[in-house]
Amino acid sequence: MSIDVQSAVAFDGQFARELPELAVPWQADPAPEPRLLALNEQLAAELGFEPASLREAGGLRLLIGNVLPSGATPVAQGYAGHQFGSYSPRLGDGRALLLGEVADAGGRLWDIHLKGSGRTPFSRGGDGLATVGPMLREYILSEAMHALGIPTTRSLAVVATGRPVHRERTLPGAVLTRAASSHLRVGSFQYARAMNDNDLLRRLAEHAMERHHPEAAQARNPYLALFEEVVTAQASLVAKWMLVGFIHGVMNTDNTTISGETIDYGPCAFMEQFDPAAVYSSIDEAGRYSYGNQPVVVQWNLARLAEAMLPLFHEDQEQAVALAEESLGAFSSQYSAAWLSGMKAKLGLGSGINDETATSISEELSALLKEGHVDYTSFFRSLGTAARGDAGSTRSMFSTASTFDAWMERWRALAPDADLMDRTNPVYIPRNHLVEEALAAAVDGDMEPFSQLMDALSEPFLERHGLVRYAGPAPEDFGPYRTFCGT
Ligand code: AMP
Ligand code: MG
Repeated sequence: MSIDVQSAVAFDGQFARELPELAVPWQADPAPEPRLLALNEQLAAELGFEPASLREAGGLRLLIGNVLPSGATPVAQGYAGHQFGSYSPRLGDGRALLLGEVADAGGRLWDIHLKGSGRTPFSRGGDGLATVGPMLREYILSEAMHALGIPTTRSLAVVATGRPVHRERTLPGAVLTRAASSHLRVGSFQYARAMNDNDLLRRLAEHAMERHHPEAAQARNPYLALFEEVVTAQASLVAKWMLVGFIHGVMNTDNTTISGETIDYGPCAFMEQFDPAAVYSSIDEAGRYSYGNQPVVVQWNLARLAEAMLPLFHEDQEQAVALAEESLGAFSSQYSAAWLSGMKAKLGLGSGINDETATSISEELSALLKEGHVDYTSFFRSLGTAARGDAGSTRSMFSTASTFDAWMERWRALAPDADLMDRTNPVYIPRNHLVEEALAAAVDGDMEPFSQLMDALSEPFLERHGLVRYAGPAPEDFGPYRTFCGT
């Protein structure tokens, strides 16, 4: 074990120090036989690590919390949450630990966090462990989202532990090392509120403000301003999900961040055929977290945040509620504006096109895509070619091309900008069949499909020769896709 690795990057324990009520000091389980499966060298360097040193034995142990970097004080974080609408007062890190925070070269603070590091006081009936497939899945999906320009937690590494994990089958264990601007969730506020300690709630809000929305401190009502910043960040985030066809799958309040980053890649998936009712998660039987419901659910989660923060908004409860309602009321127009501006870019429409025209043309398109069961990602990418005058491949996506032709004529009259479309509409997304293929190979010891997929996803807007198989929907024999909560 090299001392250098331990002291190369200084860790802080700001969260643990400032919010001890939400932080249980804890240690990661020792891994019998750590083996590196994936390392994000670029991110490692950004965070100040020497990537090569993380590949060595001491580096691997540092990545999974088995040797502690200087200044690290690992804790399991407490949080509550509404899961599928019902409230659980005590969730928390049941299989995760916050190692501490590191500052990057620009002075920005990042949480370094472990997932799959063993049982904690929050584990309830769970074993505290994670397996290779779901941890690599989070790595793929989160890094793909980042490359698509969508705020997200990041994946620094996946290390196989050498410990068998007992699920329906016995599977190889792994730890994901995750980096994020913080792990504060709506559920963190719910947990603090339930302690009936307004000083704790205030300290949590101050901590969140300092890390994410420091300008809120200057407002007349800083805590309300903080809430408004979270509303804005989440409206913008969910608009980005909708525009790219991402379905989170388990939008519980404990999986909704204060930072506005996407977090907790469990049963998520990218939609193929356009359908507002699309659901991939096997446990989401009622479709609560379907594609089209996501904006409504985020707003619902933000209402739970407002409830938790109420005592900070005003000492008079009625006035606090009125303030919260007014601030939350901004969500719909912020979401619609973010979505429409993104949809305009997808359609190559400049700022000269008015909102009514853009709204009606995109609504008509949605109806056509739904009716035609058209692959969402391929459609928009090929529409750039149609903007350049060659509509053949776009037309062929519709069984009755004539309905599409009428729409296309209207759209072309708006003089779409094909280059803008190519910068906006990805060629490569983490297609479900490709993700499954990469994970199955990885579990069998072959990391090559994973590497090739990561390569395609790292530059999603740049079409490259030889990557055709990464650009299309799943073959029919892949069948209907189902995802599972990766426990
Ligand atoms: P998630 O569905 O991953 O967002 O997790 C929801 C809650 O269940 C969190 O409190 C997790 O820490 C906990 N949890 C998930 N899997 C496990 C596990 N294998 N062992 C213990 N706790 C778990
Ligand atoms: Mg979670």
